[in-house]
Amino acid sequence: MRVDVLGVGFDNLTLDEAVERGRELLRAGGTHYVVTPNPEIVEVCRENPAAREAVNGAALVLPDGIGVIKGAAMLGTPLRERVPGIEFAARLLESMAGEGLSLYLLGAKPGVAETAAERLKERYPGLRIAGVHNGYFQEDGPIVEEIRQSGADAVFVCLGAPKQELWMAKNGPATGAKLLCGLGGSLDVFAGTVKRAPKFWRDHGLEWFYRLCSDPRRLGRMMKLPLFLVHVRQSGRRK
Ligand code: UDP
Repeated sequence: MRVDVLGVGFDNLTLDEAVERGRELLRAGGTHYVVTPNPEIVEVCRENPAAREAVNGAALVLPDGIGVIKGAAMLGTPLRERVPGIEFAARLLESMAGEGLSLYLLGAKPGVAETAAERLKERYPGLRIAGVHNGYFQEDGPIVEEIRQSGADAVFVCLGAPKQELWMAKNGPATGAKLLCGLGGSLDVFAGTVKRAPKFWRDHGLEWFYRLCSDPRRLGRMMKLPLFLVHVRQSGRRK
């Protein structure tokens, strides 16, 4: 059962349960993908049916961000826990490293995925890196083929939203990977080019504010957050 927030269905799982589901999907056969929408992506989905279909078509839809948690509570259908994509990814990598599985990193500016790969290999001994490619390419075909040839078990697709969700929905099965995860700016964090908010800010639901202060160019995008809450309120009244 998914919890509907403005047309996006979220899986009501804790971080531990989400990681367990991710591990199951890696073993399940076939290709699956995971998305981690924040309020900004929910707003994009309201206006873009193709994006909404790609997001809802994921095997796991995880609430990344305090805004989604607040929205679900305002609608009277609370979600149990915020599941930040980056924390889900880190925990999944621990498990993959233990099993000697391989990972392909797709996205971010040239050079970032390479640095992220080096850091991840140090942090998760046993993890195999099947390959990397930056996120600024013209054609999907050669990238899909490269991933297929690499035999990667999982792919982190970090192209920003909704590009990464559309990419996974369209190309996932052809990559031959078992699990693809759409993780926004995570490669920048893994590479160390962007810092996450300190724990205090994260624990108090203020990561968005920290990110805004460190990169004021995000202001335009973040105006979607109050808009999201207005839409949630309107949708709640209609119920
Ligand atoms: N990006 C990319 N290809 C594109 C557009 C964006 O690889 O065509 C990357 C960008 O370099 C960044 C990530 O996608 O690493 C998106 O980061 P953002 O902070 O926007 O994502 P968020 O985590 O906020 O969803």
